[in-house]
Amino acid sequence: MKVKAFENFCDRNKTAYIKNEPMSKHTSFKIGGEADYFVTVKSTDELLAVIKALKENGVPYFIIGKGSNLLISDKGIEGAVINLCSLDGIKTEGELITASAGASLAAVCAKALENSLTGMEFAYGIPGTVGGALYMNAGAYGGEMSQIVDSCEYIDSDGQVKRMLLCNMRLSYRKSIFCQGNMIITSVNLRLKKGNSDDIRLKMEDFLERRKSKQPLEFPSAGSTFKRPEGNFAGTLIEKNGLKGAAVGGAAVSKKHAGFIINTGGATCEDVKKLIEHIKKTVLAADGVALEPEVIFIGRK
Ligand SMILES: Cc1cc2nc3c(=O)[nH]c(=O)nc-3n(C[C@H](O)[C@H](O)[C@H](O)COP(=O)(O)OP(=O)(O)OC[C@H]3O[C@@H](n4cnc5c(N)ncnc54)[C@H](O)[C@@H]3O)c2cc1C
Repeated sequence: MKVKAFENFCDRNKTAYIKNEPMSKHTSFKIGGEADYFVTVKSTDELLAVIKALKENGVPYFIIGKGSNLLISDKGIEGAVINLCSLDGIKTEGELITASAGASLAAVCAKALENSLTGMEFAYGIPGTVGGALYMNAGAYGGEMSQIVDSCEYIDSDGQVKRMLLCNMRLSYRKSIFCQGNMIITSVNLRLKKGNSDDIRLKMEDFLERRKSKQPLEFPSAGSTFKRPEGNFAGTLIEKNGLKGAAVGGAAVSKKHAGFIINTGGATCEDVKKLIEHIKKTVLAADGVALEPEVIFIGRK
């Protein structure tokens, strides 16, 4: 790993980077050790140049949006974490919204409302970027990204900018072709429909209210810890087994919503992992259901 050469590249090109950056500052869980480099890009061209430089110098990298679905190792991340949140432009043309990958879902929803476009109200309150949402096929309240995505622009494993249509994205429950790695989404085209702005606003506010009343938004978390098992709900199984409030160190199963593990203060990645294992074991033994984490673990082992 030729890190000095990579630093020289950044200095020469005025690419913003921070060395040894605690990832707890960039995840909704407020957990995670240091990334060797935390790089912020402001354009697709800069992203392309950074990827090329990282590859040439043998530095591994990881793409991050808002870090709202991540559990990062206490030992941090080797190489560079590339933050896309400054790639946040949003344009509308008729019923089409084009959002750069780092635009927050909140901002894209606001744009939809401003233009009386309906279809993405479900996403209001999901605290991620549009790129992260496509990667995860994020969804809520009966809606999901697969229902509104038209196409996207991405960088392939050879560093080429390409376009992909929805039909090739293999979107299913919290999965997409992008989960196979090696592709970076740079912008997403969303196809919405003309609607009534009062109705859109009311729907968004209703979804947000439901979140506030049911979810432990007052604590750091990464949302639902587990995927929904077929024909069941993770939260229901966890609660049924008396695990509400179960804790390891600073990590605890929320008393408000058993589907969430929360950081009650000073939780480490190891605390969360131990709690996840305890829940998985208990639910498997009692109900024969193998819970699968929705939260993505990354970083040094
Ligand atoms: C309180 C709370 C509530 C939540 N509610 C929901 C919900 O209702 N529904 C739901 O589906 N999720 C929910 N989530 C989880 C999370 O917000 C979503 O999964 C979101 O889509 C993740 O986006 P992000 O930008 O934070 O991605 P990150 O967490 O930063 O990254 C997630 C993954 O996507 C990859 N990625 C991100 N951007 C790109 C890109 N541009 N190109 C390629 N790969 C990329 C990352 O490498 C990583 O593997 C919730 C989380 C919290 C904290």
